[in-house]
Amino acid sequence: VLALRSGAYDYLLKPFEDLELVTTAVARAVEKGLLVRERDALVEALAMKNRELSEINAFLAERANRDGLTGLYNHRYFQEAFARETALCERHGRDLSLIFGDVDHFKRFNDNRGHQAGDMALFKIAAILQKCIRISDVVARYGGEEFVVLLPDTTKEDARVVAEKIRAAIESHPFPGGENQPGGKLTISVGLSSFPEDGREPDALIQGADSALYAAKSSGRNVIRTHG
Ligand code: GH3
Ligand code: MG
Ligand code: MG
Repeated sequence: VLALRSGAYDYLLKPFEDLELVTTAVARAVEKGLLVRERDALVEALAMKNRELSEINAFLAERANRDGLTGLYNHRYFQEAFARETALCERHGRDLSLIFGDVDHFKRFNDNRGHQAGDMALFKIAAILQKCIRISDVVARYGGEEFVVLLPDTTKEDARVVAEKIRAAIESHPFPGGENQPGGKLTISVGLSSFPEDGREPDALIQGADSALYAAKSSGRNVIRTHG
């Protein structure tokens, strides 16, 4: 019993009546050993497949959050992140700001340079945006040539600094064809809103940033306007 408990596969009584019994027992033991090894290999292979699968799943989940042209977060991801962040602001009394940007006279840029050149400009603008923000900020393509940056723990004053950095970086980038734009360069107008002074709900904050953006457009473009 002790031997079996310690891992013995089988036992035979002496004296052996038939040598055949020994050979059979040994053959069975060998076969079991082989099966155990095979099972271990299968379990290991399965674990590897599972790891591969979760990597692929994570990759696909990340892809589903991204915009195909610019690689920025997409509208859907932004909405989720925004809802999460405003809830955190409510709970912990934190600051939060929203930057809305819309490329100026982009229709003209497309008309002059073609849609593909327009796509390349949007790609470049996305790269500039990403350079201007912190790792904790969420920058997304809100729509066609509209971008949004979500800045957690950021007051309106501090967000204005970021917005100005973005505006200036785009203004000073030498986009091919920019010289044919009104004002001689490709630019962006920016609207700003902040939690809690401009609203406590995502919709109100978006509306605030949107109306500020509208004001920026009305006052000549390539400027930043804040809500309120
Ligand atoms: P405004 O200064 O008032 O914003 O003028 P605008 O011409 O930028 O505004 P409007 O909304 O009239 O036009 C937006 C243009 O952006 C029209 C559309 O063709 C272009 N656009 C939107 N999405 C894309 C895109 O993915 N690629 C390219 N190339 N162009 C796009
Ligand atoms: Mg637009
Ligand atoms: Mg525009």
